[in-house]
Amino acid sequence: MREFWNRHTRESPYWNPYTETMPREQLRQMQFKRVNLLLEYAYARSPLYRRVYRNAGMEPGDITSWDDFVERVPLLDKKDLLEAQAEHPPFGACQAAPLEHYFYLFQTSGSTGMPMMTPFSFYAAAQNGDQWAHALWGIGMRQTDSAYFAFNWGTFSGFWAAYWGCRRLGATVYSGGGLDTRQRIRQILELRPTVLLSTPTYALYMAEVARDLGVDLAGSSIRLSFHAGEPGVNIPATREAIESAWGCTAHECYGVAEAGSLAAGCPTPGMIHIVEDFSTSVVLDENGRQVGDGEVGENITTCFNNYLHPIIKYRTHDLVRPRYDRCACGRTSLRFEGGVLGRTDHMIIIKGTNVYPSAIEALMGKVPGLTEHFEIHVDREQRNDTVLVKVEAAPRQQAGAYAKLRDSFARLLHESIKVRIGVEVLPPQSLPRYELKAKRLFDHRPKEHRWQVDQQRTA
Ligand SMILES: [Zn+2]
Repeated sequence: MREFWNRHTRESPYWNPYTETMPREQLRQMQFKRVNLLLEYAYARSPLYRRVYRNAGMEPGDITSWDDFVERVPLLDKKDLLEAQAEHPPFGACQAAPLEHYFYLFQTSGSTGMPMMTPFSFYAAAQNGDQWAHALWGIGMRQTDSAYFAFNWGTFSGFWAAYWGCRRLGATVYSGGGLDTRQRIRQILELRPTVLLSTPTYALYMAEVARDLGVDLAGSSIRLSFHAGEPGVNIPATREAIESAWGCTAHECYGVAEAGSLAAGCPTPGMIHIVEDFSTSVVLDENGRQVGDGEVGENITTCFNNYLHPIIKYRTHDLVRPRYDRCACGRTSLRFEGGVLGRTDHMIIIKGTNVYPSAIEALMGKVPGLTEHFEIHVDREQRNDTVLVKVEAAPRQQAGAYAKLRDSFARLLHESIKVRIGVEVLPPQSLPRYELKAKRLFDHRPKEHRWQVDQQRTA
């Protein structure tokens, strides 16, 4: 025990060295106890889970091993939670405790128009913060740091949990809530925070506004940036754009609004670790089978800390590439190589080859003369998906050079991805700019042609 406490010093790379470096077999046993408790609890308290498990002919007592959990417990999807909420608003059949235990409430807008409500107890909020503390510590933030929240404190859960994480860590918090971008830039220059928390799109937007004001943020006090709310930081061109604009190291925290901040904290760029004290992931292929090391599948998450609103084997629709062995950083926790590779709905199949939008995004910025401003358009012609990448040329490029730039990028795409992808080069400022979240993927295919996990498995 003394050895453990000696390891947990300010110099330790791990927030919780005990669980972060625990042999996987031992970690599995710890998680299986939590899974069992959660299944029993949800079955007893949540009408939704009771109904789903009864329909699948399963009771919590039937789940006696980890394999049972992976193979027999049915999947749950966002539509199940939304339907259950619509039955008895606001929380419906998902609710697993009386209202007096509610501490605060988040909601996500969702593309269907109906907001998804996620209540938190005090316990869940504190645990969510601890989840972030693992991540913040893992990227090198310490008690002596100060965090600037370029965030409006709305109903998006991610940065609220990050706030609790900073509190847990003991760092200083500066709020940029209620201010516009210019005021936030001024505050950063005056207060000299060392860590920036924002969406990646907003970090780039702030940098553009600062440039117009004649402010060089690369010389500011920010040394680390931590981004949530949308993927992007694992795209090298985006990460490099943030890092050079801010003179900092940029990291991603991968989270799912309903389940919390799931993964972050590896010093290797593009690698994220599941914080397995708080959630567990299984990664399934389209037939509902667990994928092997390095193969791509959908992340199915189970969250151990929200007992008001249980999340068990929940479909995130995020495509990931799991690695099961010990990481170079020493962590034994499950890690996803390349972060989130895309959404299951957006998997592209060209002549039998799976193409992830992230594989295209990873090549942005590799052709000199082209910028990181791009859009990917996916469509369906006859039996194949087709892709057209629209990308802006750099301001100094002459229009006469566009055809050559287009051919170089198309060649690079073909060499790297092994399928033909269309390219269109546009003049600077042709594509829209976004303040909070960028829209880069436009999927024009009919819904029935999109990748699906076998629906039978989703009960
Ligand atoms: Zn690692």
